[in-house]
Amino acid sequence: MNEKENPASFGEDTAVEPALKVEIRCLVPPTKEQQEKIRDFMKKRYRADAVEIVITKEPSVVDGFNIFVGDDNYDWSTLGRIRQLRKTIQALPKERRFDRIISLLREDIRDFTLNPGYQQVGEVLTAGDGIAVITGLREAEYGEIVLFDCGIKGMVQDIRSDGTTGIVLFGDDTEITEGSRVVRTRRTAGIPISNRILGRMIDPLGKPIDGGGDIGAKEYYPIERPAPGILQRKPVSEPLETGILSIDSMFPIGRGQRELIIGDRQTGKTSVAVDTILNQKGKDVVCVYVAISQKASSVAKVVNTLQKAGAMDYTVVVSSPASDAASLQYIAPYAGCAVAEYFMYHGRDTLIIYDDLSKHAVAYRTISLLLERAPGREAYPGDVFYLHSRLLERSARLSDALGGGSMTALPIVETQEGDVSAYIPTNIISITDGQIFLDSELFHSGQRPAVNVGLSVSRVGGAAQTGVMKKSVGSVRLDLAQYREMQVFSQFGSDLDEQTTKQLKYGAGLMQLLKQQNQSPLSLSDQVILLICARNRLFMTVEEKRIPSVKQELLEWFKTRHSSLYLRIEHEKAWSEKLQADILEAAEGFFKERS
Ligand code: ATP
Ligand code: MG
Repeated sequence: MNEKENPASFGEDTAVEPALKVEIRCLVPPTKEQQEKIRDFMKKRYRADAVEIVITKEPSVVDGFNIFVGDDNYDWSTLGRIRQLRKTIQALPKERRFDRIISLLREDIRDFTLNPGYQQVGEVLTAGDGIAVITGLREAEYGEIVLFDCGIKGMVQDIRSDGTTGIVLFGDDTEITEGSRVVRTRRTAGIPISNRILGRMIDPLGKPIDGGGDIGAKEYYPIERPAPGILQRKPVSEPLETGILSIDSMFPIGRGQRELIIGDRQTGKTSVAVDTILNQKGKDVVCVYVAISQKASSVAKVVNTLQKAGAMDYTVVVSSPASDAASLQYIAPYAGCAVAEYFMYHGRDTLIIYDDLSKHAVAYRTISLLLERAPGREAYPGDVFYLHSRLLERSARLSDALGGGSMTALPIVETQEGDVSAYIPTNIISITDGQIFLDSELFHSGQRPAVNVGLSVSRVGGAAQTGVMKKSVGSVRLDLAQYREMQVFSQFGSDLDEQTTKQLKYGAGLMQLLKQQNQSPLSLSDQVILLICARNRLFMTVEEKRIPSVKQELLEWFKTRHSSLYLRIEHEKAWSEKLQADILEAAEGFFKERS
């Protein structure tokens, strides 16, 4: 227990103490004897030399006393005792509640001892729009959960110099009125967690929302936790494969990296993220999908896709749909991060998707404006950068001493008309280690996934790419850049020389090769085979629009006729000239048979 929280340590090391003011609210005043007992109790508890007792008449305290010392409340009324008993009964497991009630009452009466019932209470000044302003609870900390009389929880968000505190509410505010009581819980928001959370869908406070049973929590992970320091980390050196050829080949992602997925609405952002989860099947990576302010139907669609592919077994979904209070949407990514952290600190590799952080920033803006904080650029509060940096910094690859786990983050950001220089996109681009830019023009022209090769980058993933992939991909990125340039150029002239025509055909073929249906991840072997064949111009003889189907046939050919070679790539992950020669020889057989 923190020293501040211990009322027994009040006033230590202070020479002259003013008398401790103890207010007794009651209908029937205490007798002299009772007053002496209360005085003695308070003297001991607060180590006070003198106690001043003030008696206030309070008709609502029918029987007994309700005692206040500053914000601290000792509810010794009959009603308070009943409340205590109710809490004990409610804390019993549901199924055992009924058979235990009688024995509990019996025990309670037999072993009756007076519990001081100490708690700090505050009072609501105003409530509305999901925000409550309270007085009292001076010692409540930022981020602490407080509990209102009606059972609704809130979180301390704004500690003001005038002694009032702004609380964001996690439920309906209609039952909270001026004068309602609020008590501290001395806990920051967190997720009760155990390994049994895998396969489940929870809300940002950790409550299952999939109709399944209890999670059987073993540990409690706070939603806010400082990011690991430099010495607690190790460099990113292992790939996290997305199964998407255009990403794994040119913008590889490493375990522990943060790669942004950015693009306009309906450009396949969620699909890239979900495909990455699907591709982790059998790779011992725990995935967390955080849905922030999405339609419940969109979340259900994602969960359905994951279930059908058998990917829910290693995935946790944290959902705060658009119908939730802004406060819940605001804490959702931190809650998801806590879930991933639990597995990371237990030595597991994890992947977390934040879908999406633009909506998260909007939820935070709503809260800040309601808390009357000064609006800044685009009406976001000044600390919106810190909102996302403290979240994304928690992604890491931990040192061996800490178990070597990792958290790879794929935050998603939606742009308006491709504007990456807006406030939130620029902020997040500067925090992450690269971005996959999805282009709506490419998407609508049928080039899907619509990865814009010119605007995408991965700053640390190169170090994590496997040797065989690095060699196979060679200069594809450069070739594509040249192709784009030439394409623009060739629109003006009709007669092109042979070399240019060839280059254009090769580039167009590469673009066709990079087309990939969603929910059909490619393995490392698939990708290596396609890249080697393309770079050695084997697809030059194929008609452009036939390339996607020929590509499938080629991979099928390798899987059935050259399975040992196919497995060798996956297994060894190392490059050799011999491997390339073997692949080319096998592929030539395929193209010969086709013609
Ligand atoms: P929103 O902005 O609404 O969140 P989004 O950018 O997340 O959209 P998705 O929901 O992933 O986009 O995809 C939009 C549509 O495009 C979906 O119907 C999806 O099935 C389709 N789609 C996505 N990727 C591909 C792909 N590689 N091939 C074919 N269709 C795709
Ligand atoms: Mg989406």
